[in-house]
Amino acid sequence: MKQEQIKPAWLSEPEDNNDLPERIWPSNVSRDSDGAVAFGGVAVSDLTAQFGTPLYVIDQTEFEHSAKAVHSALDRAAKKIGSDATVYYAGKAFLSVEVVRWIDKLGLNIDVSSGGELAIALAAGIDPKRIGLHGNNKSAAEIGRAVSAGVGAIVIDSEIEIERIAATAGAQDRIQPVRIRVNTGVHADTHEFLATAREDQKFGIAIEDVPALVARIRSLNHLEFLGLHSHIGSQIFETAGFVEAAKRLVKLHAELLKTGPVPQLNLGGGFGIDYNEGDQSPGVEAMALDIVDAVAAACRSEGVPVPRLAFEPGRAIVGRSGVTLYTVGTVKDVRLTDGQVRKYVSVDGGMSDNLRAALYQAEYSTRLVSRVSIGKPALVRVVGKHCESGDIVVRHDYLPGDVSNGDIIAVAATGAYCFSLGSNYNYLQRPPVVAVASGKARLIVRGETEADLLSRDACLQKD
Ligand SMILES: *Cc1c(COP(=O)(O)O)cnc(C)c1O
Repeated sequence: MKQEQIKPAWLSEPEDNNDLPERIWPSNVSRDSDGAVAFGGVAVSDLTAQFGTPLYVIDQTEFEHSAKAVHSALDRAAKKIGSDATVYYAGKAFLSVEVVRWIDKLGLNIDVSSGGELAIALAAGIDPKRIGLHGNNKSAAEIGRAVSAGVGAIVIDSEIEIERIAATAGAQDRIQPVRIRVNTGVHADTHEFLATAREDQKFGIAIEDVPALVARIRSLNHLEFLGLHSHIGSQIFETAGFVEAAKRLVKLHAELLKTGPVPQLNLGGGFGIDYNEGDQSPGVEAMALDIVDAVAAACRSEGVPVPRLAFEPGRAIVGRSGVTLYTVGTVKDVRLTDGQVRKYVSVDGGMSDNLRAALYQAEYSTRLVSRVSIGKPALVRVVGKHCESGDIVVRHDYLPGDVSNGDIIAVAATGAYCFSLGSNYNYLQRPPVVAVASGKARLIVRGETEADLLSRDACLQKD
């Protein structure tokens, strides 16, 4: 029987287990002469003394830098083909009032995908016209709230929503702009194009069904058709899937132009980032250029003008700006069947603050950040404290072999889909989120307390 590899081929023993490569870690990270690390100019010891662990740290400068960089890369690419790009930050990657304010100040729009996310965005005070609402099963209450708030776009995911949104807008005497999410049948993750088959998943409307639905939308006085939308997946490194989706969308877009206006084309998000030394993302700029070239070529061959473009990056904006700090508890050398040893390093959080390893087999990177060590690197697995063997935070990496109880370790690139996928499993308290910038730390989401956990238990409520 083939034995499971103890480590993946992309992982090599580091020459220096104290380095924090910029491709993976936020730019504003430094080590002082004692070897302790600072994020955004704030020492790890100060962060843990003030806020404890586990702790989500968001480097505000890094966030703003990548939001600007992603925005301008997409806009430059669009300009190259004579268009422009509206950029929606995909809020589900990480959403809090403070982050919506950063996005607002930087001039990006925002996407939400539930009533709760909409409530956060509205509470932050961003102009509702700059909000897009997604979701494959929006409730009547969610649609009602979005329409009355005046959100700039609702993305229709199934036929039944056309009548629901139109009725709601009619009752409120409003005209609601809508897009249609198209299931292009492009399978992004495997790069296998299912040329004819509909993909077996829940999102979007099959290409062949779209023209009739657009005709229906156009016939309704309380809806305004903005154009087509496609989002083919997430953490994508290859542009082939985007390019194929763009071709299919433009063909459909051109067909719809024969019977009425189609002002925009929304190509979604999904741009991948580097989580570990094996990842080699081409970057948003390179991917965007391939995508717009495909759009321009398809528009030329269909004989239609290039539409205004929209994109929805989440991870590419927030991913690398976040790190999670944990305190090491127990360390255990586990002998594997082939005589090799893997050091299991247990931390004070786990799948409740970072579900991605358990959910997607995601591979993160970790470093010891409370001190330097000249200990020989040991192959480790960083695991949480939950009652699941799949409760893994960092599946494969090295830490100094002398890593021990009380050390603080950091996990890189946890800005996207960690806080937002958090849970209370085993009644752990969800950690706080702290923003760091220019040597200052600011609490932006407080941590849960035991009182929070008990407060929902109806049997403890006095009446
Ligand atoms: C999740 C999502 C995105 C963002 O994906 P990223 O991989 O974070 O860029 C964009 N659009 C839609 C519709 C999504 O569901």
